[in-house]
Amino acid sequence: MRYKRPRGTQDILPDQVSEWRLAEETFRRIANDFGYSEIRTPIFEETDLFVRSVGAETDIVAKEMYTFSDRGGRSLTLRPEGTAPVVRAFLENNLQGTDPGRVVKLFYIAPVFRYDRPQAGRYRQHHQAGIEALGSASPALDAEVMHLAWLFYSALGLEQVDLLLNSVGCTVCRPVYVERLRAYLAGHARALCDDCRRRYEANPLRILDCKNPACRQVTADAPMMLDVLCDDCARHFAEVRKVLETIGITYQVDPRIVRGLDYYTKTAFEFVGKGLGAQDALGGGGRYDGLVEACGGPPTPGVGLGIGLERVLLARQALGLSVGAPARRGVFVIGLGEAAAQWAIAFLARLRAAGVRADLDYRFRSLRAQMRHADAMGFRYAAIAGDEELSRGEVTVRDLETATQESLPTEGAIEYLSSMSRREHCGGNAHG
Ligand code: AMP
Repeated sequence: MRYKRPRGTQDILPDQVSEWRLAEETFRRIANDFGYSEIRTPIFEETDLFVRSVGAETDIVAKEMYTFSDRGGRSLTLRPEGTAPVVRAFLENNLQGTDPGRVVKLFYIAPVFRYDRPQAGRYRQHHQAGIEALGSASPALDAEVMHLAWLFYSALGLEQVDLLLNSVGCTVCRPVYVERLRAYLAGHARALCDDCRRRYEANPLRILDCKNPACRQVTADAPMMLDVLCDDCARHFAEVRKVLETIGITYQVDPRIVRGLDYYTKTAFEFVGKGLGAQDALGGGGRYDGLVEACGGPPTPGVGLGIGLERVLLARQALGLSVGAPARRGVFVIGLGEAAAQWAIAFLARLRAAGVRADLDYRFRSLRAQMRHADAMGFRYAAIAGDEELSRGEVTVRDLETATQESLPTEGAIEYLSSMSRREHCGGNAHG
């Protein structure tokens, strides 16, 4: 084979699509139920949007973006995260409207591109289901975002998920903390990994979530952001915890959760699946009260979350969960003989025009081979006719579920099969 898919990408094959649809539809349903509306933004944006919002010094912007120039010389970047494009669309389309106090709640399901080192659970193209709530600084909204994710994991059968919670402070208290952290780390620089030695100047917070054991040992005794929070951030954090407790969501405070994007303020959180190996982060998010302004809009608080769908499906797989085979549905048309082949093509077209799931075997193989195929493809009925039957104007309708059959006049068969198909669509029992 001459061509291969690009490294770090995946083909989602037909037998995997039902798992994807389950995850996507579950997310859509829950997000809608929580009052979020779907938004779809372009797959690429002006590069500068991500540089300004995610931060020039972050790993994502410095090392992981798929950036290219188009033929007009513009620098464009494939979406490396979902929040900045939504904020851009929120501002560009004036979704806030004329009521500045209104909370605008949006969700998306979209591919995300990062030039990461591919491994199990880590890809160069992955998919995120995310939400953004813009316009309110209420800590209850932070808790709502976490509640939504919590219900999503649970609806998909993932009960062993930990919520790790932290606060990364704001423009008032974070600089104070960063200086304290740097001062502490200065004495340990030699023990840090190469990456963290680089992070020391540009992005020392990220040293806290480095997985390298030597770095973890250094940071075990480092000062923590939570000890340095300003009054406003400390109050907010306490309130978020209180609301989570009211809702009944268990969480652990984890001062190492700092997130990889500069725009976070106050609340930062991650959902971690148990027993999933190194790539165990199933989703994460937080508050970003300065982001809308950084993108050129009026001061507008916001909070959001992104869930990695590949990780969620891997977690389901690890638990042996899968979507069951769908109910048998539709009609497989079998014409045996030359005249019957013509009849089958016309009969199939009429069934399809009536909205019935239907197909036939264009190889017109033996009855046995075609019946086996109809069974394997999950059809409920086979409509069978040979030349002789057709000369009597009849067709045999076989129910593959009950293994019973009857002879019907051709016209009557169309009517019967389309009424059965309507019942299947309504979730009714076609036996009745
Ligand atoms: P992040 O905003 O980087 O925390 O990403 C949100 C979620 O997307 C993570 O918690 C993961 O579930 C998922 N994710 C992030 N990067 C990747 C990747 N390279 N491959 C697969 N999933 C990813």
